[in-house]
Amino acid sequence: MRRPIGKGSRTVTFVVKKYVPEKQGFDESTCEVQADPFTSVLDALIGIKERSDRSLSMRYSCNMGICGSCGMVINGKPRLACETNVFSLGSSTITVGPMEAHPMVKDLVTDFDEFFSKHQSVKPWLVREDRVEQFEARREYRQTRNQVDFFLDFAHCIKCGLCVDACPVSNTNPHFVGPQALGQAYRYNSDSRDQGEKDRLDDLDRLDGIWGCEFAGACSEVCPKGVDPALTIQQMKIDLMKRRLLGRGSGEKRAR
Ligand code: SF4
Repeated sequence: MRRPIGKGSRTVTFVVKKYVPEKQGFDESTCEVQADPFTSVLDALIGIKERSDRSLSMRYSCNMGICGSCGMVINGKPRLACETNVFSLGSSTITVGPMEAHPMVKDLVTDFDEFFSKHQSVKPWLVREDRVEQFEARREYRQTRNQVDFFLDFAHCIKCGLCVDACPVSNTNPHFVGPQALGQAYRYNSDSRDQGEKDRLDDLDRLDGIWGCEFAGACSEVCPKGVDPALTIQQMKIDLMKRRLLGRGSGEKRAR
């Protein structure tokens, strides 16, 4: 049951673009929604599902910008529905649709298998050269504040996939590793406890990897957590060039 609509409410028109797998195309449904200054797009969609379109499929969970489940295209831009306030959009008509750079399943739901397999491909975990230590760690790896600050901003990724949906390269080249996975490669490369940087950079030193990025910056613009994947990819281009020209990567950053 949703909270009652409060003071200052007004009617907003929602146009929901629903993917229909049987026709591999879209149906549009239009609904009038009562919204107040605290109504999010997710609140409005749940209201539509409860009152007028019970078959509407969408994915959501935490309703507080943590789980990354409710990514969708709202008024032409990939956003989290739970974090998007209806009035903040400044429009009496709001159009909602699925993220089209991900394979579509039904209505607003998209498939994330490929997204997570690209994420996994960059080894998003701490790699240790000592195999025993990798799987049965025997000591603590303490870090200075500066060492933590080197990767902390990039560790806030909630895997919502908005950056991939905004990326013009991901939208045209399905083989491109994409801003989320590349950002996470850099997050671990920048961690003083990690020893996997060489393998990650060698693997991503290709046109579908780091060099596929055209630095449009759209990924960083839509990221709800300020991860700035565009910055991480440019930084890895520099790290790769340092390795080629000077024989060293980002190790000197960690030592500060
Ligand atoms: S980098 Fe940002 S936009 Fe991309 S998946 Fe992570 S949190 Fe979402």
